Amino acid sequence: MDAQTIETITGVIDKKMTRQLKQYLDICARCAICKDACHQYVGTGDMKYLPARRAELVRQVYKKYFDAAGRFVPALYEARDPDENLLDELYESCYACTGCRRCMYYCPFSIDTQWVVAVGKAILIAAGRGQEMLGQLADAAIFKGENAEMFRDVLVSGFKDVEAEVREITGDPEAVIPVDKHGAEILYVALTGAHSIRPAAVIFHEAGVDWTISLFEASNYGYFFGDAEKAKLIARRFMEEAKRLGVREVVVPECGHAYRVADIFYEAWAQEKLPFKVSHILEVVDRFIKEGRITVEKGRIEGRVTYHDPCQIARNGGIFEQPRNVVKALTDDFVDLVPNRAEQWCCGGGGGIVAIEEMRDVRLKSGTKKVEQLRASGASVLACPCENCRLQIEDLNELHGLGLQVRQVIDLVVEAMPLPKNRQTSA
Ligand code: SF4
Ligand code: SF4
Repeated sequence: MDAQTIETITGVIDKKMTRQLKQYLDICARCAICKDACHQYVGTGDMKYLPARRAELVRQVYKKYFDAAGRFVPALYEARDPDENLLDELYESCYACTGCRRCMYYCPFSIDTQWVVAVGKAILIAAGRGQEMLGQLADAAIFKGENAEMFRDVLVSGFKDVEAEVREITGDPEAVIPVDKHGAEILYVALTGAHSIRPAAVIFHEAGVDWTISLFEASNYGYFFGDAEKAKLIARRFMEEAKRLGVREVVVPECGHAYRVADIFYEAWAQEKLPFKVSHILEVVDRFIKEGRITVEKGRIEGRVTYHDPCQIARNGGIFEQPRNVVKALTDDFVDLVPNRAEQWCCGGGGGIVAIEEMRDVRLKSGTKKVEQLRASGASVLACPCENCRLQIEDLNELHGLGLQVRQVIDLVVEAMPLPKNRQTSA
């Protein structure tokens, strides 16, 4: 490896090194308790997916350049150059990590492997080895942000198509999907696709909310890629839009990482206090049901329903009860997966891995625990408020013949509302 690349890598490590990160690198007792917590290690039995091993690779590079003993006697202090072999292993272990932080939950020292993995990805990017597809998707989103006017007409025409469906579902010929509405109460930032807009628009319409839709999507491939600057630029597109429109609340859709980026990371990245609150759509729906702003009726959802806690919303976002309140308002036949809430098993679909075709095999193997949980629940419907989790669980559903309906929670909510279209269906 040439001196220039080494300099770039060490510069990245130096920039990311905080006292807490240094502590994570120093205190690991190699007790391996984390191995039983990681769905990927449990599903594959492959050492490179052991959480402590992922961190070990970063630690080896750190010791080589930032630790006096490691610099002078590398063999004794397990210090290592970021050679091609190390980078190969780092690539496989870091881009496979779903960032679920279940290992941290069980680690006696609460070592945040996901944080260390983020440094691993930064090393890879500095060495020109960042994951290509995630990088391209991130750059495309940034380009869209810089050239918003170029995409505007296509987007607005797509919203009009969905608006026609919303009118049909609600029976209100005046129902609208407002765009660029100044002073609206809520800015809803959807995912790409009508499936993320239609049910939310129906719910906002029925709740009588003054809302408007974002011209940008919530998903953030810069975060998955491991480049905080790109991730900030992608999220900034709708944060600036929300400021321009003067909304009181930004609502993110059923997407785990989008919620974590917008509500937990963004203010620190942008070093500013946002003048509005950020909510997950199910926090908002729970509020609407409690306030009587929307009505849902039990008995419309057939079969036993269970709920998957997406890691970024639940363990890493603290949203446990609001989605359960919503689902329980729809059915009397609800059963929780075991374990659940903070101890929930990661499905194996987070961290951008669903977009990395070469990691399909490890992704599917790492769903073993989720499959066991789903089978044991006896449920026929899975309410799942995260797009990546749904994609992964759909694949597991097909592969293992689970016979589950994997559903967006807001779709289930709309199905349980006394709307003209639902009345026709049940008649
Ligand atoms: S559980 Fe924590 S201390 Fe033990 S090996 Fe894993 S990361 Fe290290
Ligand atoms: S964050 Fe999740 S996927 Fe990554 S090492 Fe920890 S348990 Fe495994």
